[in-house]
Amino acid sequence: MTDTDTIFGKIIRREIPATIVYEDEDVLGFKDIAPQAPVHVLFIPKNEVIPTLDDLTPEQGALVGKLVVAAAAYAREQGLHKDGYRVVMNCREHAGQTVFHIHLHLLAGAPLGRFGTP
Ligand code: AMP
Repeated sequence: MTDTDTIFGKIIRREIPATIVYEDEDVLGFKDIAPQAPVHVLFIPKNEVIPTLDDLTPEQGALVGKLVVAAAAYAREQGLHKDGYRVVMNCREHAGQTVFHIHLHLLAGAPLGRFGTP
């Protein structure tokens, strides 16, 4: 365990339970424990701990693409692409980031409210 370890590290190592719905070589997808929409899945990198998007190096940029590709594949598999969905990444306090292991939220299953207003 490193000093950058988080609850998501425990989920990756199967030390705490999670409802895992997607997994490939680089990405794990699991249901959010406090869903903000009928479908709320988090996609995280499995092999690297990057605390925030602000810590992402140019060399790590492809990893974010993998999170997006995984979310889109899952959405298509679940038929969510028909009505649409949203993906969101929160960075630090003003965005409400609470877990410091980068993650992509996939929100779907009902019309979503607008966003970005304080
Ligand atoms: P953020 O606020 O962008 O950092 O998102 C962190 C998300 O992780 C929140 O939506 C939490 O509900 C979710 N979360 C925290 N702990 C767990 C957990 N043990 N299993 C699943 N989701 C979690």
